[in-house]
Amino acid sequence: MAEFFDTEIKYLKGVGEARAKTLTKEIGVANFRDLLYYFPFRHIDRSRFYSIGDLHGEDLPALQIRGRFISFSQEGEGARKRLVGLFSDGKKLMETVWFNNLKYFSSAYNTSTEYVIFGKPQLYHHAYSMIHPEVEAYNPEKPPTGFRGVYTITEPMRKKGFSVITIRRMVEEVMKLPGFTKIPETLPQEIIARYHLMPLREAMINMHFPKSPELLQKAIERFKFEELYYVELNILRFSMERGARIKGHTLTRIGEYFNGFYQKFLPFALTGAQQRVLKEIWADMKTGRQMNRLLQGDVGSGKTMVAFLTALMAVDNGFQASIMAPTEILATQHYETISKWGTQIGLKVALLTGSTRQKARREIHESLLDGRLNLLIGTHALLEDKVQFQKLGVVVIDEQHRFGVAQRARMWNKGEIAPHVLVMTATPIPRTLAMTVYGDLDVSVIDELPPGRTPINTMVRWDSNRVEVDNLIFSQLKRGRQVYIVYPLIKDSEKTDLKSLELGYQRTCDTFVGVPVCYVHGQMKPEEKDRQMSLFVSGEARIMVATTVIEVGVNVPNATVMVIENAERFGLSQLHQLRGRVGRGAEQSYCILMGKQTSGAETKKRLSIMAETTDGFLISEADMKMRGPGDMEGTLQSGMPFNLRVANLAKDGQILTRAREAALVVLGGTQPLLSPGAAPSPNEKINSPIALNDPDITMTRHELKLRFAREVDWSLIS
Ligand code: ADP
Ligand code: MG
Repeated sequence: MAEFFDTEIKYLKGVGEARAKTLTKEIGVANFRDLLYYFPFRHIDRSRFYSIGDLHGEDLPALQIRGRFISFSQEGEGARKRLVGLFSDGKKLMETVWFNNLKYFSSAYNTSTEYVIFGKPQLYHHAYSMIHPEVEAYNPEKPPTGFRGVYTITEPMRKKGFSVITIRRMVEEVMKLPGFTKIPETLPQEIIARYHLMPLREAMINMHFPKSPELLQKAIERFKFEELYYVELNILRFSMERGARIKGHTLTRIGEYFNGFYQKFLPFALTGAQQRVLKEIWADMKTGRQMNRLLQGDVGSGKTMVAFLTALMAVDNGFQASIMAPTEILATQHYETISKWGTQIGLKVALLTGSTRQKARREIHESLLDGRLNLLIGTHALLEDKVQFQKLGVVVIDEQHRFGVAQRARMWNKGEIAPHVLVMTATPIPRTLAMTVYGDLDVSVIDELPPGRTPINTMVRWDSNRVEVDNLIFSQLKRGRQVYIVYPLIKDSEKTDLKSLELGYQRTCDTFVGVPVCYVHGQMKPEEKDRQMSLFVSGEARIMVATTVIEVGVNVPNATVMVIENAERFGLSQLHQLRGRVGRGAEQSYCILMGKQTSGAETKKRLSIMAETTDGFLISEADMKMRGPGDMEGTLQSGMPFNLRVANLAKDGQILTRAREAALVVLGGTQPLLSPGAAPSPNEKINSPIALNDPDITMTRHELKLRFAREVDWSLIS
C-alpha cells in the first residue's frame, strides 16, 4: 500500500508539475500521504442551525445558531474591557463576547431582529460562549451550505491561485481513487478495539469532510491518540533501552551517616509521603539501574530533607553527592540548612556559587578530587569543567524548570558511570504529563504537607478594602513579621491600568514610614537582586516589593503576609507558587489577593478557588482547564524534545494517559519504568498480545516520522 500513499502529488488529477512544486515548498505536501494528513486547522458547520442545548463536548467546530440578542453590556476594565451580548435561541441563553471595536459592535445589532450567529462555541465554566461571532440577519431564503474543513493557505499559494476550495477538491480526488479504499490501518487492531478508536480511513474522511460534530470529535481524538501513543512508545522504549544500557552505581548499604542522622538528629518525624519517596529513591539506587527521577512536591512539602537523606545514602556507600539550585540565594539557603544538619554527623559540606572566592574555590576543587568533601551544594557554578568529583554518586537538582535538559545531561558527564539523578520541582503537573514532558523521568510525588502547619488564610480583597489590608500589614509588622507585596509590572504603562512595582514601592514607603523596604524585579543585575534578597532573608528589610521573580523557593519563615496586586492577572498556579512563600513558620500567615472589583464573574470565581483550596494539583488542574492552551502550554512545550501537531499536552491529558497505557501494554509493561506507586497492578498488566517486533509498529514508526511529531530528539536528553 506504500505506493498509493507515496504517489507524488503531481500525478493527482489537475495538479501537475508546477503546482506540485508550490505545494511541496509552501506546505510540505509532496505526495498523497502528505495531502491526506494536511488536516484542516478548523472546521465550519453551516449544514444546519444548532440549538444551544444541543452543544456538548469541548472541541466544537464553528457553527451557526439562530435567535435574538436579549441585551448588551460592557464588562471589565482596561485591557480586559469587553462587550457581552446575551443571545437566546428561544430556549437557552449564551454569551457572545467582543473585545475590540466595542463602540461599533454595541450599536451594530439590536434586540428586535432575528440573527444567525456563527462562530466556535467555547466552553467556559460549563457554559458556552462565542467570541467575536459573525452576525448576520436571518434570511429564510439562504440555504445551509454544508460542513467542512478550512485549510491554511500561504500567501504565495494564494498568488498562484490556490484556495481552501482547491485543497478540498484535491483531497476529494485522492479519496475517490481505488487505492484509498485500501489504505492500511496504522494502529494495532487490539488498541483500536480496546480504546474504541475510529479506524484510520473513516477518521481521515471525517477530518476533512465530517458527517457530524460528534464524528469529527471522534476523528480528532483518534489522531491525537495516535500521535501521543507513538510519542509514548518512543519515550518508553528509549527509557527501557537506557535502563539496559546506562549503568548506575549500585548502592548496597544504608550506613552510619544515614542511620546516625536518622536516629539521633532528625529534627522532625518524616511525613508518610517523605518516607515513601525515600523508599522509591533507595529502590532505584540499589538496583544498579541509574536513577532518573522527578520528585514533585508542593511548596513547603519538605523536599530539602529528602534531598539531604538521598545524599547521605550515597555518602554511606563511599560516594560524593551534590545539590544544585537555580539561584545563589537558594543555594545559600540550602547550604545553611543542610550544613547545620550535616555537621552533627561529621559530614563535610561546601557551597560553590558564582561569588565563591578564588581561594575557597581552589580548596573545594581539591577536596572534591581527593574525596574529603562529601557534599557540594551550589548553583550553575557546579557545571564548570573545573569542578571534578572523585566519585560522584548522586546529583539532586532543585526546581527543575529553571534548568534545561541539557544542563541535566552535563552533570551526568561528571563520572565514568552516570550518577543517580533526582530532579525536584514544586510545579505540580499530572504524573503522566510530567513523564512525557520530562522525557523518560520516573516520577515520585510528595502529596502530604508536614503536620502542624497553620493553614494560610487566603482572602480576596478589592481596592475599596485598601485600608483594611494596610492595617493587617501594620499589625503583622508590629509583631515583628515580614511582608511580601507582588506587582504584575515593573514600570507604569499607558497601555494598561495595572499597578506597577515602581509606584508600589513609593506607596509602600509612604504608607509604612520608617519601615525598611527592599525590592527585586527581573530586570535587575543578578548581584543587585541577590543583595536585595539577602536584605529580606536576613530580616534587615521588613517588606519586600517584588515582581514574580520571588516565585521560586525562597524560604523566609518569618514572612507571614503575601499581598498580590492585580491578582486577576496571574494564573492560578503562579498565585499558588507565590502564596507558598508564606506559611513556612508556625505563625498564622495571610495571602491577600487584590483583585479588581469590576472583574467579571469568571475572574472572581478563579480567585475564590485560591481561597478555597491549597492543593497544588487541584489548582494546576483547574488552571489548565480554565486557561486552556495559555501559559501552561508555553511552559509545557518549551524544552520538550518533540513537537506535537494534533495533540495538545495542556488539554489532552486524558488521551495522553490512555495512550501511555496502551504503549506500556504493547511494550510488555516493564515494571521498573514506573515508580512503585505508579506501577500497574499485576493482573492489569501485561498480557500484551502484540510482539515488539510487530511489523505494524515498525511501519508506523516510520510513518510517524513522516507525518506527526518530528521524531523525538533524544540527543537532547541522553
Ligand atoms: P520545599 O518542599 O518547598 O523545598 P522545604 O524542604 O523548604 O520545602 O520544607 C519546608 C519547611 O518544612 C522547612 O522549614 C522544613 O524544615 C519543614 N519540614 C520538612 N519536613 C518536615 C516534617 N516531616 N515535619 C515537620 N516539618 C518539616
Ligand atoms: Mg525547596
